[in-house]
Amino acid sequence: MSDVWISDVRIMGREGNFDIGVQGGHIAEIVTAGTRTYSGQVIEGRGLLAMPPFVEPHIHLDSVLTAGQPRWNESGTLFEGIQRWSERKPYLTREDVLTRVDEALQWMMAQGTLHIRTHVDVTDPTLTALQALLELREKVRGVVDIQIVAFPQEGIYSYQNGRGLELLEEALRLGADVVGAIPHYEYTREYGVRSIDACFDLAEKYDRLVDVHCDEIDDEQSRFVEVLATRALERGMGQRVTASHTTAMGSYNDAYAYKLFGLLRKADIHFIANPLINITLQGRFDSYPKRRGFTRVKELWQAGINVCLGHDDIMDPWYSFGTGSMLQVAHMAMHVGQMTGRQEAMACVDMVTYRSAKTLQIEDRYGIEVGKPASLLLVDADDKWDLLRRMPPAELVMSHGMVVAKTDPVKRRVYWTSRDGVVGEGGYGVDFRMHTGSPVSASEPRV
Ligand SMILES: [Zn+2]
Repeated sequence: MSDVWISDVRIMGREGNFDIGVQGGHIAEIVTAGTRTYSGQVIEGRGLLAMPPFVEPHIHLDSVLTAGQPRWNESGTLFEGIQRWSERKPYLTREDVLTRVDEALQWMMAQGTLHIRTHVDVTDPTLTALQALLELREKVRGVVDIQIVAFPQEGIYSYQNGRGLELLEEALRLGADVVGAIPHYEYTREYGVRSIDACFDLAEKYDRLVDVHCDEIDDEQSRFVEVLATRALERGMGQRVTASHTTAMGSYNDAYAYKLFGLLRKADIHFIANPLINITLQGRFDSYPKRRGFTRVKELWQAGINVCLGHDDIMDPWYSFGTGSMLQVAHMAMHVGQMTGRQEAMACVDMVTYRSAKTLQIEDRYGIEVGKPASLLLVDADDKWDLLRRMPPAELVMSHGMVVAKTDPVKRRVYWTSRDGVVGEGGYGVDFRMHTGSPVSASEPRV
Protein backbone atom coordinates (compact mmCIF):
# COMPACT_ATOMS: atom_id res chain seq x y z
CA MET A 1 0.00 0.00 0.00
CA SER A 2 1.27 3.46 -0.90
CA ASP A 3 0.15 6.91 0.31
CA VAL A 4 1.49 8.78 -2.71
CA TRP A 5 2.05 7.66 -6.29
CA ILE A 6 4.33 9.29 -8.83
CA SER A 7 2.77 8.18 -12.08
CA ASP A 8 4.30 7.56 -15.49
CA VAL A 9 8.01 8.28 -15.11
CA ARG A 10 11.06 6.81 -16.74
CA ILE A 11 13.78 5.78 -14.26
CA MET A 12 17.44 6.54 -14.90
CA GLY A 13 19.23 3.31 -15.85
CA ARG A 14 16.03 1.31 -16.52
CA GLU A 15 13.94 0.68 -19.62
CA GLY A 16 10.22 1.47 -19.65
CA ASN A 17 7.73 3.71 -17.88
CA PHE A 18 6.84 3.19 -14.25
CA ASP A 19 4.67 4.30 -11.38
CA ILE A 20 6.48 4.77 -8.07
CA GLY A 21 4.54 4.20 -4.83
CA VAL A 22 5.70 6.02 -1.70
CA GLN A 23 4.78 5.16 1.86
CA GLY A 24 6.18 6.47 5.12
CA GLY A 25 8.91 8.37 3.29
CA HIS A 26 10.21 5.26 1.53
CA ILE A 27 9.74 3.76 -1.92
CA ALA A 28 7.18 1.01 -1.34
CA GLU A 29 6.48 -0.16 -4.90
CA ILE A 30 7.71 0.32 -8.46
CA VAL A 31 5.25 -1.02 -11.05
CA THR A 32 4.83 -0.75 -14.82
CA ALA A 33 3.00 2.49 -15.63
CA GLY A 34 -0.75 2.31 -16.00
CA THR A 35 -1.22 -1.15 -14.49
CA ARG A 36 -2.83 0.06 -11.24
CA THR A 37 -5.64 2.33 -10.18
CA TYR A 38 -4.70 4.44 -7.22
CA SER A 39 -6.28 5.84 -4.14
CA GLY A 40 -4.46 8.64 -2.38
CA GLN A 41 -2.35 11.43 -3.81
CA VAL A 42 -1.01 11.14 -7.36
CA ILE A 43 1.86 13.25 -8.73
CA GLU A 44 1.68 13.26 -12.53
CA GLY A 45 5.13 12.33 -13.86
CA ARG A 46 4.24 13.04 -17.53
CA GLY A 47 6.99 10.76 -18.84
CA LEU A 48 9.75 12.78 -17.11
CA LEU A 49 13.00 11.10 -16.07
CA ALA A 50 13.17 10.13 -12.39
CA MET A 51 16.69 10.12 -11.01
CA PRO A 52 18.24 10.01 -7.56
CA PRO A 53 19.22 13.39 -6.08
CA PHE A 54 22.57 14.99 -6.78
CA VAL A 55 25.31 14.34 -4.23
CA GLU A 56 27.75 17.18 -3.52
CA PRO A 57 30.89 15.43 -2.22
CA HIS A 58 33.17 18.44 -1.68
CA ILE A 59 32.17 21.96 -0.76
CA HIS A 60 33.30 24.55 1.79
CA LEU A 61 29.98 25.78 3.14
CA ASP A 62 31.65 27.94 5.81
CA SER A 63 32.92 30.34 3.14
CA VAL A 64 29.96 30.37 0.70
CA LEU A 65 28.59 33.74 -0.43
CA THR A 66 31.50 35.77 0.93
CA ALA A 67 32.87 36.83 -2.48
CA GLY A 68 33.69 40.53 -2.42
CA GLN A 69 33.75 40.74 1.40
CA PRO A 70 35.58 42.90 2.24
CA ARG A 71 37.21 42.97 -1.22
CA TRP A 72 37.00 40.97 -4.44
CA ASN A 73 39.77 38.59 -5.46
CA GLU A 74 40.82 40.60 -8.49
CA SER A 75 43.68 38.34 -9.58
CA GLY A 76 41.53 35.22 -9.21
CA THR A 77 44.48 33.32 -7.72
CA LEU A 78 44.58 30.86 -4.83
CA PHE A 79 46.97 33.13 -2.94
CA GLU A 80 44.85 36.25 -3.18
CA GLY A 81 41.92 34.01 -2.18
CA ILE A 82 43.73 32.98 1.02
CA GLN A 83 44.51 36.64 1.70
CA ARG A 84 40.87 37.73 1.18
CA TRP A 85 39.63 34.86 3.39
CA SER A 86 42.01 35.85 6.20
CA GLU A 87 40.47 39.34 6.03
CA ARG A 88 36.93 37.91 6.16
CA LYS A 89 37.55 35.24 8.84
CA PRO A 90 37.56 37.64 11.86
CA TYR A 91 33.94 38.57 11.02
CA LEU A 92 32.64 35.00 11.28
CA THR A 93 29.80 34.65 13.76
CA ARG A 94 27.24 31.90 14.26
CA GLU A 95 24.53 34.07 12.66
CA ASP A 96 26.75 35.04 9.74
CA VAL A 97 27.55 31.40 8.94
CA LEU A 98 23.98 30.17 9.42
CA THR A 99 22.48 32.92 7.23
CA ARG A 100 24.86 32.35 4.32
CA VAL A 101 24.75 28.56 4.45
CA ASP A 102 20.97 28.56 4.70
CA GLU A 103 20.79 30.66 1.51
CA ALA A 104 23.24 28.41 -0.36
CA LEU A 105 21.37 25.31 0.79
CA GLN A 106 18.16 26.69 -0.72
CA TRP A 107 19.94 27.12 -4.06
CA MET A 108 21.29 23.59 -3.88
CA MET A 109 18.02 21.97 -2.82
CA ALA A 110 16.10 23.77 -5.54
CA GLN A 111 18.44 22.18 -8.06
CA GLY A 112 18.16 18.72 -6.55
CA THR A 113 21.17 18.33 -4.25
CA LEU A 114 20.10 16.45 -1.11
CA HIS A 115 23.39 14.93 0.09
CA ILE A 116 26.37 17.14 0.93
CA ARG A 117 29.88 16.61 2.33
CA THR A 118 31.17 19.97 3.53
CA HIS A 119 34.62 20.87 4.79
CA VAL A 120 34.83 23.31 7.70
CA ASP A 121 38.02 25.13 8.61
CA VAL A 122 38.97 24.07 12.13
CA THR A 123 42.18 26.09 12.33
CA ASP A 124 40.20 28.61 14.36
CA PRO A 125 40.50 28.44 18.17
CA THR A 126 36.83 29.40 18.57
CA LEU A 127 35.56 26.74 16.10
CA THR A 128 32.72 29.17 15.32
CA ALA A 129 31.94 27.89 11.82
CA LEU A 130 32.09 24.27 12.95
CA GLN A 131 29.62 24.84 15.79
CA ALA A 132 27.25 26.65 13.41
CA LEU A 133 27.41 23.87 10.84
CA LEU A 134 26.89 21.15 13.45
CA GLU A 135 23.75 23.03 14.48
CA LEU A 136 22.61 23.32 10.88
CA ARG A 137 23.28 19.63 10.16
CA GLU A 138 20.75 18.70 12.86
CA LYS A 139 18.23 21.32 11.73
CA VAL A 140 18.05 19.99 8.16
CA ARG A 141 18.39 16.28 9.02
CA GLY A 142 15.71 14.25 7.28
CA VAL A 143 15.61 16.65 4.33
CA VAL A 144 19.24 17.33 3.42
CA ASP A 145 21.88 14.90 4.57
CA ILE A 146 25.11 16.72 5.61
CA GLN A 147 28.51 15.20 6.43
CA ILE A 148 31.01 17.54 8.06
CA VAL A 149 34.76 17.24 7.49
CA ALA A 150 37.02 18.74 10.17
CA PHE A 151 39.40 20.48 7.80
CA PRO A 152 42.64 22.05 9.11
CA GLN A 153 42.97 24.70 6.38
CA GLU A 154 46.25 26.07 7.78
CA GLY A 155 47.78 22.67 8.53
CA ILE A 156 47.87 20.26 11.45
CA TYR A 157 51.53 20.71 12.42
CA SER A 158 52.20 24.05 10.72
CA TYR A 159 49.34 25.91 12.45
CA GLN A 160 50.42 27.66 15.66
CA ASN A 161 53.24 25.18 16.39
CA GLY A 162 51.11 22.07 16.10
CA ARG A 163 47.88 23.39 17.61
CA GLY A 164 46.04 22.15 14.52
CA LEU A 165 46.06 18.63 15.93
CA GLU A 166 44.36 19.64 19.17
CA LEU A 167 41.65 21.58 17.29
CA LEU A 168 41.13 18.73 14.84
CA GLU A 169 40.51 16.28 17.68
CA GLU A 170 38.22 18.75 19.44
CA ALA A 171 36.17 19.03 16.23
CA LEU A 172 35.73 15.25 16.19
CA ARG A 173 34.68 15.22 19.83
CA LEU A 174 32.08 17.86 19.00
CA GLY A 175 30.68 15.62 16.24
CA ALA A 176 32.42 16.13 12.88
CA ASP A 177 31.85 13.07 10.68
CA VAL A 178 35.09 13.01 8.70
CA VAL A 179 38.77 13.76 9.46
CA GLY A 180 40.67 16.03 7.06
CA ALA A 181 44.27 17.06 6.44
CA ILE A 182 46.22 19.22 3.98
CA PRO A 183 49.68 17.59 3.73
CA HIS A 184 50.99 19.58 0.71
CA TYR A 185 50.37 22.83 2.61
CA GLU A 186 52.38 21.79 5.70
CA TYR A 187 55.81 23.45 6.06
CA THR A 188 57.77 20.28 5.27
CA ARG A 189 57.25 16.93 3.60
CA GLU A 190 57.84 15.31 7.00
CA TYR A 191 55.03 17.33 8.57
CA GLY A 192 52.87 16.33 5.61
CA VAL A 193 53.46 12.61 6.13
CA ARG A 194 52.95 12.95 9.89
CA SER A 195 49.71 14.84 9.29
CA ILE A 196 48.34 11.92 7.24
CA ASP A 197 49.32 9.48 10.01
CA ALA A 198 47.61 11.67 12.60
CA CYS A 199 44.52 11.80 10.41
CA PHE A 200 44.32 7.99 10.23
CA ASP A 201 44.95 7.62 13.97
CA LEU A 202 42.06 9.96 14.75
CA ALA A 203 39.79 8.24 12.21
CA GLU A 204 40.41 4.90 13.93
CA LYS A 205 40.08 6.33 17.43
CA TYR A 206 36.74 8.05 16.71
CA ASP A 207 35.48 5.66 13.99
CA ARG A 208 35.24 8.36 11.30
CA LEU A 209 35.87 8.59 7.55
CA VAL A 210 38.96 10.30 6.05
CA ASP A 211 38.94 13.00 3.34
CA VAL A 212 42.27 14.71 2.67
CA HIS A 213 42.95 17.82 0.57
CA CYS A 214 45.80 16.10 -1.24
CA ASP A 215 48.39 17.53 -3.63
CA GLU A 216 46.27 20.56 -4.62
CA ILE A 217 49.25 22.19 -6.32
CA ASP A 218 50.95 22.10 -9.73
CA ASP A 219 54.19 20.79 -8.14
CA GLU A 220 54.97 17.45 -9.79
CA GLN A 221 56.98 16.59 -6.65
CA SER A 222 53.88 16.73 -4.45
CA ARG A 223 53.26 13.02 -3.92
CA PHE A 224 51.18 12.67 -0.79
CA VAL A 225 48.56 10.63 -2.60
CA GLU A 226 50.97 7.67 -2.54
CA VAL A 227 51.27 8.07 1.23
CA LEU A 228 47.50 8.34 1.67
CA ALA A 229 46.86 5.28 -0.50
CA THR A 230 49.57 3.25 1.27
CA ARG A 231 48.17 4.02 4.73
CA ALA A 232 44.65 3.15 3.52
CA LEU A 233 45.93 -0.14 2.10
CA GLU A 234 47.97 -1.07 5.18
CA ARG A 235 45.16 -0.26 7.59
CA GLY A 236 42.48 -1.88 5.41
CA MET A 237 40.50 1.38 5.26
CA GLY A 238 40.32 2.00 1.48
CA GLN A 239 36.56 2.46 1.18
CA ARG A 240 36.59 4.90 4.10
CA VAL A 241 39.27 7.14 2.57
CA THR A 242 39.04 9.93 -0.03
CA ALA A 243 41.71 11.95 -1.81
CA SER A 244 40.35 15.37 -2.78
CA HIS A 245 41.77 17.53 -5.60
CA THR A 246 45.05 15.61 -6.36
CA THR A 247 45.72 18.21 -9.07
CA ALA A 248 49.48 17.48 -9.00
CA MET A 249 48.56 14.20 -10.72
CA GLY A 250 47.97 16.32 -13.82
CA SER A 251 51.70 17.16 -13.72
CA TYR A 252 53.13 13.71 -12.88
CA ASN A 253 55.21 12.02 -15.55
CA ASP A 254 53.54 8.98 -17.09
CA ALA A 255 56.10 6.47 -15.77
CA TYR A 256 55.40 7.53 -12.17
CA ALA A 257 51.64 7.72 -12.83
CA TYR A 258 51.70 4.15 -14.17
CA LYS A 259 53.34 2.89 -10.97
CA LEU A 260 50.99 5.00 -8.83
CA PHE A 261 47.85 3.63 -10.51
CA GLY A 262 48.91 0.09 -9.53
CA LEU A 263 48.86 1.20 -5.88
CA LEU A 264 45.60 3.12 -6.26
CA ARG A 265 43.81 0.08 -7.66
CA LYS A 266 44.94 -1.99 -4.67
CA ALA A 267 44.21 0.72 -2.09
CA ASP A 268 40.63 1.16 -3.38
CA ILE A 269 40.26 4.76 -2.15
CA HIS A 270 37.90 7.39 -3.62
CA PHE A 271 38.85 10.52 -5.58
CA ILE A 272 37.14 13.89 -5.86
CA ALA A 273 37.97 16.48 -8.52
CA ASN A 274 36.58 20.02 -8.41
CA PRO A 275 36.66 21.12 -12.04
CA LEU A 276 35.27 24.65 -11.67
CA ILE A 277 37.99 25.55 -9.19
CA ASN A 278 40.85 23.33 -10.39
CA ILE A 279 40.76 24.78 -13.90
CA THR A 280 40.79 28.35 -12.60
CA LEU A 281 43.29 28.11 -9.73
CA GLN A 282 45.88 25.75 -11.21
CA GLY A 283 48.32 26.57 -13.99
CA ARG A 284 48.73 30.12 -12.65
CA PHE A 285 52.52 29.93 -12.62
CA ASP A 286 52.68 28.68 -16.23
CA SER A 287 52.94 30.94 -19.21
CA TYR A 288 52.44 28.72 -22.28
CA PRO A 289 51.90 25.83 -22.69
CA LYS A 290 49.59 26.22 -19.68
CA ARG A 291 48.67 23.15 -17.64
CA ARG A 292 45.05 22.37 -16.86
CA GLY A 293 45.94 21.27 -13.32
CA PHE A 294 43.05 18.82 -13.30
CA THR A 295 43.58 15.37 -11.82
CA ARG A 296 43.43 12.38 -14.17
CA VAL A 297 39.66 11.91 -13.94
CA LYS A 298 39.28 10.06 -17.21
CA GLU A 299 42.17 7.69 -16.46
CA LEU A 300 40.96 7.01 -12.89
CA TRP A 301 37.52 6.20 -14.26
CA GLN A 302 38.99 3.97 -16.96
CA ALA A 303 41.09 2.16 -14.32
CA GLY A 304 37.92 1.29 -12.40
CA ILE A 305 38.78 3.60 -9.48
CA ASN A 306 35.89 5.51 -7.93
CA VAL A 307 36.12 9.18 -8.89
CA CYS A 308 33.51 11.87 -8.39
CA LEU A 309 33.06 15.63 -8.74
CA GLY A 310 32.33 18.55 -6.44
CA HIS A 311 31.99 22.34 -6.38
CA ASP A 312 34.62 23.20 -3.77
CA ASP A 313 33.37 26.79 -3.66
CA ILE A 314 30.29 28.87 -4.40
CA MET A 315 30.82 32.63 -4.48
CA ASP A 316 33.73 32.85 -2.05
CA PRO A 317 37.25 34.34 -2.11
CA TRP A 318 38.55 31.49 -4.28
CA TYR A 319 35.72 31.40 -6.81
CA SER A 320 33.33 34.30 -7.25
CA PHE A 321 30.86 32.33 -9.38
CA GLY A 322 28.56 29.33 -9.00
CA THR A 323 24.85 28.73 -8.53
CA GLY A 324 24.91 25.38 -6.74
CA SER A 325 24.17 23.37 -9.88
CA MET A 326 25.85 19.95 -9.92
CA LEU A 327 25.17 19.75 -13.65
CA GLN A 328 27.38 22.80 -14.10
CA VAL A 329 30.12 20.89 -12.24
CA ALA A 330 29.71 17.77 -14.41
CA HIS A 331 29.53 19.87 -17.57
CA MET A 332 32.83 21.58 -16.74
CA ALA A 333 34.48 18.23 -15.91
CA MET A 334 33.40 16.82 -19.25
CA HIS A 335 35.17 19.70 -21.02
CA VAL A 336 38.28 20.01 -18.88
CA GLY A 337 38.79 16.24 -18.71
CA GLN A 338 38.06 15.83 -22.42
CA MET A 339 35.34 13.33 -21.62
CA THR A 340 33.13 14.17 -24.58
CA GLY A 341 32.69 10.58 -25.77
CA ARG A 342 29.18 9.33 -25.21
CA GLN A 343 30.02 6.88 -22.41
CA GLU A 344 32.52 9.34 -20.94
CA ALA A 345 29.99 12.17 -20.78
CA MET A 346 27.39 9.91 -19.18
CA ALA A 347 30.01 8.85 -16.61
CA CYS A 348 30.31 12.53 -15.64
CA VAL A 349 26.64 12.41 -14.56
CA ASP A 350 27.41 9.32 -12.44
CA MET A 351 30.21 11.35 -10.84
CA VAL A 352 27.70 13.80 -9.32
CA THR A 353 25.21 11.06 -8.35
CA TYR A 354 26.01 7.36 -7.82
CA ARG A 355 29.79 7.73 -7.62
CA SER A 356 29.55 10.60 -5.14
CA ALA A 357 27.16 8.47 -3.07
CA LYS A 358 29.79 5.73 -3.00
CA THR A 359 32.41 8.22 -1.80
CA LEU A 360 30.11 9.38 1.01
CA GLN A 361 29.38 5.72 1.90
CA ILE A 362 25.62 6.29 1.68
CA GLU A 363 24.79 3.69 -0.97
CA ASP A 364 22.53 1.79 1.44
CA ARG A 365 20.09 4.72 1.37
CA TYR A 366 20.65 6.07 -2.14
CA GLY A 367 18.96 5.21 -5.46
CA ILE A 368 15.46 4.62 -6.81
CA GLU A 369 14.79 1.17 -5.36
CA VAL A 370 12.06 -0.37 -3.21
CA GLY A 371 12.91 0.01 0.47
CA LYS A 372 15.12 3.06 0.05
CA PRO A 373 14.12 6.63 1.03
CA ALA A 374 11.81 8.26 -1.51
CA SER A 375 14.34 10.95 -2.44
CA LEU A 376 14.34 11.69 -6.15
CA LEU A 377 14.17 14.31 -8.89
CA LEU A 378 11.97 14.59 -11.97
CA VAL A 379 13.78 16.13 -14.96
CA ASP A 380 12.90 16.65 -18.58
CA ALA A 381 15.74 14.66 -20.20
CA ASP A 382 15.98 11.65 -22.49
CA ASP A 383 18.91 10.16 -20.59
CA LYS A 384 22.19 11.08 -18.84
CA TRP A 385 23.74 12.41 -22.04
CA ASP A 386 20.79 14.68 -22.75
CA LEU A 387 20.76 15.78 -19.11
CA LEU A 388 24.36 16.95 -19.37
CA ARG A 389 23.90 18.62 -22.74
CA ARG A 390 20.83 20.67 -21.86
CA MET A 391 21.14 20.89 -18.07
CA PRO A 392 17.36 21.12 -17.51
CA PRO A 393 16.02 22.11 -14.06
CA ALA A 394 14.79 19.57 -11.53
CA GLU A 395 11.05 20.16 -12.02
CA LEU A 396 10.31 18.35 -8.79
CA VAL A 397 12.58 17.52 -5.86
CA MET A 398 11.36 14.94 -3.33
CA SER A 399 13.16 14.16 -0.10
CA HIS A 400 11.95 11.24 2.06
CA GLY A 401 8.53 11.40 0.40
CA MET A 402 8.12 15.19 0.81
CA VAL A 403 8.10 17.55 -2.17
CA VAL A 404 10.74 20.09 -1.08
CA ALA A 405 11.22 22.09 -4.30
CA LYS A 406 9.67 22.70 -7.70
CA THR A 407 10.92 24.60 -10.75
CA ASP A 408 8.82 25.56 -13.74
CA PRO A 409 10.60 24.70 -16.98
CA VAL A 410 11.53 27.59 -19.27
CA LYS A 411 9.42 27.95 -22.39
CA ARG A 412 11.00 29.75 -25.34
CA ARG A 413 8.93 30.99 -28.25
CA VAL A 414 10.10 32.18 -31.66
CA TYR A 415 7.82 34.32 -33.83
CA TRP A 416 10.05 34.88 -36.80
CA THR A 417 10.37 31.52 -38.61
CA SER A 418 7.76 29.62 -40.56
CA ARG A 419 7.54 27.28 -37.56
CA ASP A 420 5.93 29.86 -35.29
CA GLY A 421 5.72 28.37 -31.83
CA VAL A 422 7.50 26.95 -28.82
CA VAL A 423 11.11 26.00 -29.49
CA GLY A 424 12.43 22.69 -28.26
CA GLU A 425 16.08 21.87 -27.65
CA GLY A 426 15.97 18.54 -29.47
CA GLY A 427 17.03 15.07 -28.44
CA TYR A 428 20.01 13.48 -30.15
CA GLY A 429 19.54 12.08 -33.62
CA VAL A 430 16.43 14.18 -34.31
CA ASP A 431 17.77 15.81 -37.44
CA PHE A 432 19.14 12.55 -38.82
CA ARG A 433 15.76 10.86 -38.43
CA MET A 434 14.00 13.85 -39.95
CA HIS A 435 16.20 13.86 -43.04
CA THR A 436 16.70 10.14 -43.68
CA GLY A 437 13.92 8.31 -41.87
CA SER A 438 16.56 6.13 -40.16
CA PRO A 439 17.04 5.96 -36.44
CA VAL A 440 20.43 6.74 -34.96
CA SER A 441 21.74 4.08 -32.63
CA ALA A 442 23.65 5.14 -29.56
CA SER A 443 26.32 2.57 -30.30
CA GLU A 444 26.67 3.43 -33.97
CA PRO A 445 30.36 3.87 -34.77
CA ARG A 446 31.41 7.36 -35.76
CA VAL A 447 33.94 8.12 -38.44
ZN1 LIG B 1 38.44 22.00 -0.97
